[in-house]
Amino acid sequence: MTVPKETIDRLANIPNVSVSQGVLLSRHTRFGIGGPADVFVQAASEQAFAEALEVSQASGAPYSVIGDGTNLIVSDQGFDGIVLRLTAQTIEQEGATVRAEAGAELQALVDYSIDRGLRGLETMTGIPGSVGAAVYGNAGAYGHSIDERVRQVRFLDGPAVRSFGPAECHFHYRESIFKGHKDWIILAVELGMTPAPAAELRQAADEIFKIRLAKYPATMKCAGSIFKNLILPDLPESVRRQIPERVIREGKVPSAFFLEQVGAKGMRSGGIQVADYHANLIYNTGDGTARELCELINELKSLVKSRFGLDLEEEVQYVGFSPAPQPA
Ligand SMILES: Cc1cc2nc3c(=O)[nH]c(=O)nc-3n(C[C@H](O)[C@H](O)[C@H](O)COP(=O)(O)OP(=O)(O)OC[C@H]3O[C@@H](n4cnc5c(N)ncnc54)[C@H](O)[C@@H]3O)c2cc1C
Repeated sequence: MTVPKETIDRLANIPNVSVSQGVLLSRHTRFGIGGPADVFVQAASEQAFAEALEVSQASGAPYSVIGDGTNLIVSDQGFDGIVLRLTAQTIEQEGATVRAEAGAELQALVDYSIDRGLRGLETMTGIPGSVGAAVYGNAGAYGHSIDERVRQVRFLDGPAVRSFGPAECHFHYRESIFKGHKDWIILAVELGMTPAPAAELRQAADEIFKIRLAKYPATMKCAGSIFKNLILPDLPESVRRQIPERVIREGKVPSAFFLEQVGAKGMRSGGIQVADYHANLIYNTGDGTARELCELINELKSLVKSRFGLDLEEEVQYVGFSPAPQPA
């Protein structure tokens, strides 16, 4: 146990903070996988989170910040340190500007915007998880991502609260500056939206939601896409020649295309399986483990590497692995 008792006591004394020990992280991941966290901290306000983070950092114990666990692979051994979650979830509107705290559900923000006749997030309906993580990973779907609407991101850098405009966030496909600065924790985001008829936005969202539900049934234990898609111009000419025009979307080649060619659909490792209808969707059939999941991911990466010479990159994030799983 790495976390000193004194640290746990200090955390427990912060108002609006709940502290538990030995919580199974499988209960906090959509994969339903992950061993215990030594200490699990949930903070219901920005102030409480800032204090809890400061105490955690000062303790010298390892710490990790998670959202709703929909894009996480947590080790079977769990996390030997402090896991923190910000649950503050206020969403506010001022004209066409919407502000949301990082702990709000992205879907709540999507619905809030649609209901108020604000265009900009409706294609993101059905993406699970929190607003903070959506900014961290520049979440998106159906040709749009959250960076298109971000005006300002407020985050913690140690005890200091800082703000970045969109250019400083270095957004690109499923990337932001925050992925390279794990110690910068997003507190809130301000978005600039466009007025539009609510009924039109709702209809667009409902259509997308229906398609998504067929692909990702609500009870499926998964993380959405495991691997990022590949940027067409970044691929070697020899690989580009093998890609049919019809699979290219918005300048990207779905990693599912390469995975399909190596026979990924339906592949299995213990309780973990690749969907038989989508080669970039891996799910836990019930009693799968992180070890089996990582084995399958590595096998898929090496198959694609040896057939196409390409390194697939995970979209999912790892917690509790030391060192983090290496490319195959
Ligand atoms: C069925 C399904 C479908 C999906 N479809 C899509 C899709 O279409 N498009 C898409 O982009 N994603 C998709 N995803 C992935 C997932 O929804 C997103 O990555 C989401 O943003 C993760 O949110 P979360 O709160 O669950 O984050 P978590 O999984 O808990 O964490 C993800 C990462 O965010 C970091 N993080 C969390 N909160 C903060 C914070 N406040 N500050 C800094 N870092 C933070 C964590 O450290 C971690 O590295 C899908 C997932 C599932 C299960």
